[in-house]
Amino acid sequence: WNEILLIDKLRKEHKLTAEEYKILLECQDSNCLSYLQKQAQEEALSRFGNRVFIRGLIEVTNRCRNNCYYCGIRKGNPSVSRYGLTRETILACCREGYEAGFRTFVMQGGEDPAMTDEWTEQTVASIHRLFPDCAITLSLGEKTRETYERFFHAGANRYLLRHETYNKEHYRLLHPDRMSPEYRLQCLQWLKEIGYQTGTGIMVGTPGQTIGHLVEDLLFIERFQPEMIGIGPFIPHHDTPFAGKAAGSMEMTLKLLSIFRLMHPYALIPSTTALATLASDGRERGILAGANVVMPNLSPPEQRTKYTLYDNKAAFGAEAAEGLKKLSERLNAIGYRISTERGDYNGNRT
Ligand code: SAM
Repeated sequence: WNEILLIDKLRKEHKLTAEEYKILLECQDSNCLSYLQKQAQEEALSRFGNRVFIRGLIEVTNRCRNNCYYCGIRKGNPSVSRYGLTRETILACCREGYEAGFRTFVMQGGEDPAMTDEWTEQTVASIHRLFPDCAITLSLGEKTRETYERFFHAGANRYLLRHETYNKEHYRLLHPDRMSPEYRLQCLQWLKEIGYQTGTGIMVGTPGQTIGHLVEDLLFIERFQPEMIGIGPFIPHHDTPFAGKAAGSMEMTLKLLSIFRLMHPYALIPSTTALATLASDGRERGILAGANVVMPNLSPPEQRTKYTLYDNKAAFGAEAAEGLKKLSERLNAIGYRISTERGDYNGNRT
């Protein structure tokens, strides 16, 4: 009953103490968990109706200078067949997506040294010129403030950069020394100051993650007030140092997703590909737990299998842009519908 009161408090006040978050994260009682999910679902329905926003995901490069221990496209994995899309291919993906109804394009990739700032800036500018009614989201990792500004002025208006874990020791367990948790947080601060709708988030169930770490993540996200929150289970990749580690759990991912929805009612929260990979009904379960965005894959089909962040990553069928009809049917079956609106963050205009 204590937990039910906490869920009510979170819905009303949008924040809890560290100790209260811990109680919710440790709660296993199925009545409480379904109550939490119901509250999050109601909160999403009251702000967005039964609309689910779609974003066309273009995986622009699988080259990366980083060596994150969890990631399949890490620099140290020699088995990856590396690619970088040309500007023409990216624009062709956007054209195809536009015709299918997409009004947000997400350019995501590794930190590719061959992808110069100038090239990215001009690519963003081309998308902006050709599709002026579309939002452009970037997810290209850590840059300098000046570079983020250049991309913003070229027409990018959203940026996704998960902080991955707020705890510094845990961060160092997941990343080699050259990456620093302080710089990642600094990047997030810059992105917000520049005016991007900024997304951050975590993987759930990474090796060494504790409930205490998750509480730190909740408190950070409560303070940072991101416009977008990306949360998905960690899934191992066989060619990484974390091969053989256990994947994060569906239950914990959904629990956190619902807490984020109650914490930030207007946030744009995707039901992630990693959730859809973990279970065949993962995408729907994410929506029913309070998510309101899906990101079908718009990359050229022949490159998709090369952007393998983790084993068995879903990239076809309802997870793909060409499978939009299938996705739409599956969402309809749980009472939701795809929205082709741009779906900007609307929290400041209540
Ligand atoms: N390089 C950019 C960055 O660091 O933000 C964007 C690309 S990165 C591959 C996108 C996200 O993939 C990361 O933020 C991470 O959370 C997720 N990811 C990487 N490996 C994963 C794994 N094994 N399981 C689940 N998610 C993973």
